[in-house]
Amino acid sequence: MVLQQFDDSWGRFSSPLFKTYTLTNFRDILQIKKLSQEKQFEIEVVGNVLPFKTNNYVVEQLIDWKNVPNDPIFALNFPQRDMLKPKHYRKMENALKKGLEKKEIQRIANEIRLQLNPHPAGQMEHNVPQLRDGTKLYGMQHKYKETVLFFPSQGQTCHAYCSFCFRWPQFVGMEDLKFAMRETSSLIQYLKEHPEITDILFTGGDPMIMKAKLLSRYIDSILDADLPNLQTIRIGSKALAYWPYKFTSDDDSQETLDLFNRVTRRGIHLSFMAHFNHPVELSTDAVKAAIRAVRGTGAQIRTQSPVLKHINDDPNLWAEMWKKQVSLGLIPYYMFVVRDTGAQHYFGVPLIRAQEIFRDAYQQVGGLCRTVRGPSMSSTPGKIQVLGVTNVGKLKAIVMRFLQGRDPKWVQIPFLAKYDKKAIWIDDLKPFSDKKFFFEDGLEKILSKDMKSSGSDDSTVHGGPP
Ligand code: SF4
Repeated sequence: MVLQQFDDSWGRFSSPLFKTYTLTNFRDILQIKKLSQEKQFEIEVVGNVLPFKTNNYVVEQLIDWKNVPNDPIFALNFPQRDMLKPKHYRKMENALKKGLEKKEIQRIANEIRLQLNPHPAGQMEHNVPQLRDGTKLYGMQHKYKETVLFFPSQGQTCHAYCSFCFRWPQFVGMEDLKFAMRETSSLIQYLKEHPEITDILFTGGDPMIMKAKLLSRYIDSILDADLPNLQTIRIGSKALAYWPYKFTSDDDSQETLDLFNRVTRRGIHLSFMAHFNHPVELSTDAVKAAIRAVRGTGAQIRTQSPVLKHINDDPNLWAEMWKKQVSLGLIPYYMFVVRDTGAQHYFGVPLIRAQEIFRDAYQQVGGLCRTVRGPSMSSTPGKIQVLGVTNVGKLKAIVMRFLQGRDPKWVQIPFLAKYDKKAIWIDDLKPFSDKKFFFEDGLEKILSKDMKSSGSDDSTVHGGPP
């Protein structure tokens, strides 16, 4: 079913109604009714632990139902049995089969969630900045000198949830694990106290879930504050992929574009950090019109995605995605390694394989696509890029470097780890020759200082630059 048609030659659309599907109503989806009862129950079991939300655009325009259950966008949005480890799956399955009370199911879900490393890279402990007067700013993070992350409290959800998302605790009602901030006054105060900050990244959830009026309250007060060092406002969002009508035909789409225009007219760079996981997300008329609309405001769109088993672990697919992006005027920016949280065992691609995928894709594309960097891990010490495998004497080693570091002096220094084909995260790797990686002592010092004062991580999957 086609959601809606072009209205006129400018590529504007009539507005479809946004309809979400969650655990409570996913069985209403016609295509879901055709799946076996067993498959539907699996969605329910896993969806009780990991966040689950999709919408009518994803269901009707992105998922190829003939290819379900193997369709990548289906796996991206609908919980799959293997996303939980068998012991966790059985626990929730039993709870549901016994018909336990909602409260008890919630308790069991939280118990499982806490075993899934809900806040990787020490975000809760190490990345909370504070004002000079000692006020801690829990809705912000500041890890790299020039960039601060801001989590507007009304932007803590998304048009649909990605089943791999490392921000998943934000969506499952674990209030203690949420970052969120309502007022901009503390953000502005912090920026005044830290003139080294040139970039603000709005992240979430997805800030583009906010109505234009709300978003403009945040952004306009930043513009009004006239911060001399502010160069860039970044918005991390998957709205182009999950609900492109936000920029074309929702009732506040023009207001949203006007806001973007106000930013760029002030001479501030607006960088839209768009999250695309698969070429199909770039294929609809709706997304193409939305991209034109956003670019028409003077904003740049940079793209990023993790490399994910079951979704996009194929170099040809990445090459196709980057080429499509460039032809639509987007700038390929990052390929990430999926983070050490949630369903990492399901989506995780070993580092060596991730680098092969990156290399083989990169070799197929022209110079304009080669703005992309990766594969990169957004880890506690910083963003670590895997460069490849080399021989040192008779031994193989993995070569890496920092793209961003908690200490800027670490950046661009190559370092080696022992070859390990199975490693999927920096913590799995051992230094090639020394006892410790070169940054470990420095990191320890920074983290212990952090515990006393501040820190940050700008590595949201769609919020980058990680
Ligand atoms: S990756 Fe982005 S869009 Fe997807 S669930 Fe996470 S925050 Fe939301």
